[in-house]
Amino acid sequence: MKTKLGLLYGGKSAEHDVSMQTALAVIKALDLAKFDIYPIYITKDGSWINGPKLTGPAESVEALTFTTERSISPLALQAHSTDENSGSTGYDVIFPLLHGPNGEDGTVQGMLELLNLPYVGNGVLASSAGMDKVIMKNIFAQAGLPQVKYTWFIRSEWEKNTESSINKVAEELGYPCFVKPANLGSSVGISKCNDADELEKAVAEAFQFDRKIIIEEGVIAREVEFGILGNDDPSCSVAGEIIPKKDFAFYDYSAKYVDGNSAMVIPAEIKESEYAALSEMAITAFKSLDCSGLVRADFFLTKEGKIYINEVNTMPGFTPFSMFPLLWKHTGIDYPALIETLVKLALERHEEKQ
Ligand code: ATP
Ligand code: MG
Ligand code: MG
Ligand code: MG
Repeated sequence: MKTKLGLLYGGKSAEHDVSMQTALAVIKALDLAKFDIYPIYITKDGSWINGPKLTGPAESVEALTFTTERSISPLALQAHSTDENSGSTGYDVIFPLLHGPNGEDGTVQGMLELLNLPYVGNGVLASSAGMDKVIMKNIFAQAGLPQVKYTWFIRSEWEKNTESSINKVAEELGYPCFVKPANLGSSVGISKCNDADELEKAVAEAFQFDRKIIIEEGVIAREVEFGILGNDDPSCSVAGEIIPKKDFAFYDYSAKYVDGNSAMVIPAEIKESEYAALSEMAITAFKSLDCSGLVRADFFLTKEGKIYINEVNTMPGFTPFSMFPLLWKHTGIDYPALIETLVKLALERHEEKQ
């Protein structure tokens, strides 16, 4: 029997286009002898459109958008998941290929829980805790993971006490520091600041994206990342490193998606002892957030040999050229096998909950 896979992609977030490219690649990689693929497209406006069962790999992103006549309520997903040819109902599993708010943050996951539909990737708690950098860091601190110093503010608090807030940052963190919206990804809204003036501007910028921000001590460090795969007993991939090609201030949005001015080195050139320490921390981070399925864990490694965890991403970039799939490719699991493993893990987790 084939697995009926509902592929959820697009979405309202800034990462809509990345999601479309990912969906195209995942469809191409799926073995049609094993899977029936049902596209579920979320438009930029947030409408959900139930596409017809795919009969072959889609040629382009355009082939993955459908007429709004097929639009459904997200909550009707289960009822509308009819295989038009056989008349049978129900997806076996949903694969949410969504990044950022309304996709990676537990909202979609919560809806799928209510519908009792198995889904790939992290559950509600890990997704939402992983989306909020403050909550994530508090949990990591509790788990004893090393981190750079950080503090956080909500908008009203910052506006009421701007001067004392700036002083607090200078005293507790110093410069340079990094200002980030608490709930985002892809480096959107993030700035590096060297003084109080830059801090004020950076904070105003970050508050455009979120009512809550995090400010961190800036470090000069290598950026080393790991892929974690599994449920209760997860495995860690080889290490990968991001090398900025130009003299970038940091790995910002344009370095990631626009200029392509950064390269990945896989496996990263790190000592065996560093691999041992970092991979153990990556697994600790995974377990501390109660993750399942997959996570990309990102670290800073300083010249002096200091290690800090920066973050985990509960739905990391997932095109065949993204860090997470490449890490697993180098670890011995290629893209099609990775997708099948994730589906298997989703079904196992669902089974255990019943
Ligand atoms: P992602 O696309 O990985 O989800 P993100 O939006 O969650 O990114 P971060 O990974 O926290 O953001 O930060 C983006 C980049 O900014 C990092 O890869 C790093 O280059 C730089 N950076 C962030 N925090 C710091 C810090 N405390 N010190 C030095 N550089 C930092
Ligand atoms: Mg992130
Ligand atoms: Mg992200
Ligand atoms: Mg990151």
